[in-house]
Amino acid sequence: MTYLPSGMPAPEPGPEDAPFWQACQDKTLKIRFCHDCTRYFHPPMPGCPRCGSMDLGWKEVSGNGTVFTYTIGHHAVHPALKGHGPYNVSVILLDDVDDVRLVSNVIDVPPEELSIGMPVTVCFEPAGNGMLLPRFRRRNPSSESTGSAR
Ligand SMILES: [Zn+2]
Repeated sequence: MTYLPSGMPAPEPGPEDAPFWQACQDKTLKIRFCHDCTRYFHPPMPGCPRCGSMDLGWKEVSGNGTVFTYTIGHHAVHPALKGHGPYNVSVILLDDVDDVRLVSNVIDVPPEELSIGMPVTVCFEPAGNGMLLPRFRRRNPSSESTGSAR
């Protein structure tokens, strides 16, 4: 069971963002990195939006971040969402990647519990065409310690 129904349109990778989507198929998150100003940026573009450099690379990032902002959708904005119930569309501010933000969904938090600043980590869910999409789940900062809390 995926967070959004499988009938939702899947991304159509273009030349600029194909490596981003390819990394997602390997369950990794890769972000565009400018070798000249040594900053990350997203979405991918042919040149650095800050300094115009074409000397760009891709770097794998941790996928940890926090909820920057979100909205709860109650209306079916796409036919596939009909009868699906409330869902969130969240902007995730990634850790340690300058100010890179991804528009995604937090998949394991009920609408009333979702909050700005909540720590999250990336996970990957298949779209209807089998393509893996980056989504996020709640990250418990102390979950690395014992794992026996519940
Ligand atoms: Zn740059």
